[in-house]
Amino acid sequence: MGDLEDQHKIFLQSLMWKKICDYDEVKTLYQKCHDKVNVEPGDLSTFINKINENLKPLQMAIQKGVDELTGKSYYMLINRNNNNISRLFPQNKVQELEVFKRIIASIVKSEDGKISSTDALNLQMDMKIMKKEINEILLMFKRDGWLYEEEGYYFFSTRAITELQPFFRENYPDDISSCYMCKNIIFQGSSCESCNIKLHNYCKKSYFLRSTSKPNACPACLQNYDAA
Ligand SMILES: [Zn+2]
Ligand SMILES: [Zn+2]
Repeated sequence: MGDLEDQHKIFLQSLMWKKICDYDEVKTLYQKCHDKVNVEPGDLSTFINKINENLKPLQMAIQKGVDELTGKSYYMLINRNNNNISRLFPQNKVQELEVFKRIIASIVKSEDGKISSTDALNLQMDMKIMKKEINEILLMFKRDGWLYEEEGYYFFSTRAITELQPFFRENYPDDISSCYMCKNIIFQGSSCESCNIKLHNYCKKSYFLRSTSKPNACPACLQNYDAA
């Protein structure tokens, strides 16, 4: 942490404590850190880069991630040693990680980027484990901020999509797609009926709002994107 000043340290500590902050929270936090030490704030990305330089030896970094469903930006402190699940979750038991890996695989390989809790409980595991235990493990990864759950479906949190991306790309290169517009990894969104490109819903919305070509024309093949 050699050349970090107090405002950097306060910022980093707050982010560690909050785990994940949206852009407005980051801006407020950024201002507060500077007010505290009576320094005029400069450029946010230069500020974050300086912290990240100091975090390098620890294999950590502050990284921006985007919520797949809303398109909203978040900042979080991530582990850069993130292509290895066991190193990422040293506090978890082997069995918990095995279940988590199974869940990851089934979400990655699903059509719509999610798995129903019933299907999750019925996943064939390589080990003897009761449904009750699988359920507890699911709830734990949800509580720890890796999975979101809505209406009985589990899907990747913004943190998981951001931090586990190297793991996804390394282990499931053939199952991973990128959004045609933002080029980010995509799990939940829609695809073109003609050419199969994928778009996040928020990318699709903003593209069609801006687009001057014929209404609903796919950005890649120009055919009707939603043709049934
Ligand atoms: Zn996108
Ligand atoms: Zn198309």
